[in-house]
Amino acid sequence: MNIVIFGAPGSGKGTQSEMLIERYGLHHISTGEVLRDHIARKTPVGQIAKTYINQGQLIPDSLMIKILEDIIDHEPKAKDGVILDGFPRTVPQADALKRFFERRGQELHHVIGLEVPEGELIDRMIKRGMQTGRADDNIETIKNRLNVYHQSTTPLRDYYIKEGKYRAIKGSGTVEKIFADIAKAIDAAE
Ligand code: AMP
Repeated sequence: MNIVIFGAPGSGKGTQSEMLIERYGLHHISTGEVLRDHIARKTPVGQIAKTYINQGQLIPDSLMIKILEDIIDHEPKAKDGVILDGFPRTVPQADALKRFFERRGQELHHVIGLEVPEGELIDRMIKRGMQTGRADDNIETIKNRLNVYHQSTTPLRDYYIKEGKYRAIKGSGTVEKIFADIAKAIDAAE
């Protein structure tokens, strides 16, 4: 089973992914974490990624698609199913993902859309920034990230509704209740 966990920055994608991995035995790929790791290791990709991430902008599609495909191609565990967290974020990325799965004889089964009111997203990211020191969790970058999300990423909601893959989940409340709703949506669609 292949899943995309979808939602605005701060919507809880990472937290819910951790729980999904355990329950469904999926391999977790967070493109944000992959890029932060490149930055920490000071790789050429990290150098490029840093300027975009610090401004709250998206890494160019062609580079991001190549990074994602390389990871999946080189990860044997990905054969049994992945949970993609933070990818796709644009329509070209979603199209590329569709073609990529087709080439591998696989498909995307569910897009879990975590829906959280904007004010709550900002509060969560500010709190996370204070707790973890994550560089892009500051108010100026958060505003840019939310703008980019509304402009480039929200069209994917309709994209996946049309494909019959979108499962809307209320993303506020306790972590456990949100997870229970996700599991129910997945199990009901199986
Ligand atoms: P995240 O941890 O998912 O919030 O991602 C942090 C940052 O990494 C984003 O604000 C983007 O700059 C970059 N990023 C992560 N995933 C993608 C993607 N699929 N496409 C473009 N940029 C991405």
